Amino acid sequence: MKILITGGAGFIGSNLCKRLVNDGHDVTVLDNLLRGNKIDPEVFKQIHFIKGDVKNYSIVNTASKNVDIIFHFAAVLGVDVVADNPVETMDVEVIGTRNVVAAAQENNIKQILYASTSGIYGHSAIENALSEEVLVDPRTSYAMAKRYNEIYLASHNEEKGLEAVSLRFFNVYGGNQDNRMVIPRFFEQAQKGEQITVYGNGEQTRDFTYIDDTIEACVRLMNIKGYHIVNIANEEEWNIKTLAEHILEITNSTSKIAYIDAPKKRYDYEVERRVGSSKKLKQLVNYKPSTPLVDGLKMIYNINN
Ligand code: UDP
Repeated sequence: MKILITGGAGFIGSNLCKRLVNDGHDVTVLDNLLRGNKIDPEVFKQIHFIKGDVKNYSIVNTASKNVDIIFHFAAVLGVDVVADNPVETMDVEVIGTRNVVAAAQENNIKQILYASTSGIYGHSAIENALSEEVLVDPRTSYAMAKRYNEIYLASHNEEKGLEAVSLRFFNVYGGNQDNRMVIPRFFEQAQKGEQITVYGNGEQTRDFTYIDDTIEACVRLMNIKGYHIVNIANEEEWNIKTLAEHILEITNSTSKIAYIDAPKKRYDYEVERRVGSSKKLKQLVNYKPSTPLVDGLKMIYNINN
């Protein structure tokens, strides 16, 4: 199949790119390379690469010619970066997704798979795990924009029959990820012998999903009919203090944990608990992420060393 990945040079996009090339697909990546290029050089030789911005309709339209499926992963990412760049974040989400949808319509694209976020749940009440049916509670412009696009895609499915999936990623992690996210940041701090900067008391929880599992879920969701919002979650709830302790142990680091206040700009993003249910994913494609966090952390350590 011919597949376009917007944001394909980023962390999730580049891993997806590798997998799709290995599966024999004809892959085009559209990326502005603002954060560098994470695509494996061997893989890069086997794809079509377009350097450009999803905010530019003519580039998105050209990149979409003869394409069957679009993975729309281009986004401004990382709590600190998003908080510092709220207007650009919204523009990339709203204009970028509008362009992808318009190009999909013009070029008869079969399906769009869109990178949404578990951030949409915000402070939603959790009993056991967050399922897609709970009342969402986006608190930040980033989460609002992602939710807006989920609804935008839903209405295009209803009105124009555009097939789409909104992927609600839960804290995806893996090797070669940059330190905007907590796991690579703690690894870097531990391996440099710096303090591990745990925000607050470290009791806040997240559900960390290993990159290979995330990619498997994305690939299995290709070609499913209709419109679906799907959690991509590991269903394991870990607090940040324990995460820091595991990373110290795995890296054999002498770094100390420092419990510090989160930077003020992060306040709106700080959520006490987040753990997802992958029941719907399992029902749809008979798969769910399951790499235990500690195994995933060890794999990162091996990749780093
Ligand atoms: N976090 C932390 N120290 C850091 C960076 C993050 O304690 O230096 C915590 C943060 O409070 C949050 C979790 O790690 O609870 C995940 O943060 P990240 O920015 O990776 O993703 P988020 O889930 O906030 O989008």
